[in-house]
Amino acid sequence: MLVMNANFDASYPTSHSADNRYVHGLDRQYVFHSWAQQGSLDPMVIASAQGCRVWDYSGREYLDFSSQLVNTNIGHQHPRVVNAIQAQAASLCTIAPAHANLARGEAAKRIIAKAADGFSKVFFTNAGADANENAIRMARLYTGRSKILSAYRSYHGNTGSAIAATGDWRRVPNEYASGHVHFFNPYLYRSEFWARDEKEECERALTHLRRVIECEGANAVAAILLETIPGTAGVLLPPKAYLQGVRKLADEFGIVLILDEVMAGFGRTGRWFAFEHYDMAPDLIVFAKGVNSGYVPAGGVIISEPISRYFDDHFFVGGLTYSGHPLAMAAIVATLDAMEEEGIVENADNVGNGPLAEGLKRLAECHPIIGDWRGVGVFHALELVSDPVRKTPLPGTEVLKLKQLLMEQGLLVFTVENRIHVVPPCIVTPEEVEEGLAILERVFEGYTASLQ
Ligand code: PLP
Repeated sequence: MLVMNANFDASYPTSHSADNRYVHGLDRQYVFHSWAQQGSLDPMVIASAQGCRVWDYSGREYLDFSSQLVNTNIGHQHPRVVNAIQAQAASLCTIAPAHANLARGEAAKRIIAKAADGFSKVFFTNAGADANENAIRMARLYTGRSKILSAYRSYHGNTGSAIAATGDWRRVPNEYASGHVHFFNPYLYRSEFWARDEKEECERALTHLRRVIECEGANAVAAILLETIPGTAGVLLPPKAYLQGVRKLADEFGIVLILDEVMAGFGRTGRWFAFEHYDMAPDLIVFAKGVNSGYVPAGGVIISEPISRYFDDHFFVGGLTYSGHPLAMAAIVATLDAMEEEGIVENADNVGNGPLAEGLKRLAECHPIIGDWRGVGVFHALELVSDPVRKTPLPGTEVLKLKQLLMEQGLLVFTVENRIHVVPPCIVTPEEVEEGLAILERVFEGYTASLQ
């Protein structure tokens, strides 16, 4: 743990003179962090990165199985994307959203080519939260209705409507906007419906959603907003029949179905979009993160033909100065081309559903502290319990201890509540998977032994 120096000198050093201590001190003195109690922070310092690895200023190497915030699907510093950003910066850094630009048009064309048939236009935003804001607004304008139904176990971003749509504890006190209603989504391991199997969970969750729609008044519901596979809430893979049933309910009641693919999209599940696993499609697709791996912030909404046509002769009340920012767009074009040509989505499928899934399954079978393992592609969660019979969640302080032990062994993971999310970049190799699994095994073994 690095201790903050009260007389810290914040004069900017040349890069070769930067070190972990200086950067940590600079951060603690001046930077206000997301989702954090500021006084108790001890952020890890990262100086450089390549592929699935990152380094601090002392040269200490870490295998990045967090993909930062589950966004570096193409890995760190892909040369094609870095070069594309540099080339774009040299010719045109910024334009107003009203103008046409080659990079923006090419990015939209490629995204439409990856989406299912029936999608025709892309609205670009700066990130995932504002993409959800705009999808919600489109649904309200299109239907003339106001209510948005979303799941308790979900995360949709940290702006007005996006955080109001988010379920669980993430709703910010006093910012609970009107027009948002929540429902329970399937989660068999901790079923709200007393279901004994996936079929029962699926049927009861659909009956529950139908009742929520009826009670709220179908004519008042603009949209159902769902993460295709809720990510931050625990990689909660829904049964196939559930998403198909939600699609049917939306059609029956004339409700817009919005699927939030911010975390699950662009390769993470071993498909371009997670809904491809479910043989159905939404009306609006929300994306961000993996679309250009976050090299330059970008997000957006992929709009289906009927909604797109509606706005041909209805004004869209919405916009952003940086919608379709050239640097972000150049990064999207290069990312999607590289992913296509290098078979990166196929790699996420092969390595993620092969050695990674097999290794995590074995780990879960050997360690009773892992109450449940769920995942697809390079999108996995280990749900940790102190009592496997009662499924008592392992306290957050213990999960943080495990995260620290993993870091000491050189492995970065993403932890939330009582879960370790194992979410490496889509380019991860079988050798890197073996290395990461060996660290997980060692740390679980040592931790369990320390409890005896
Ligand atoms: N939607 C989902 C499913 C997410 O996982 C996130 C972020 O993790 C967001 C939306 C918000 O995206 P951003 O943080 O880019 O605003």
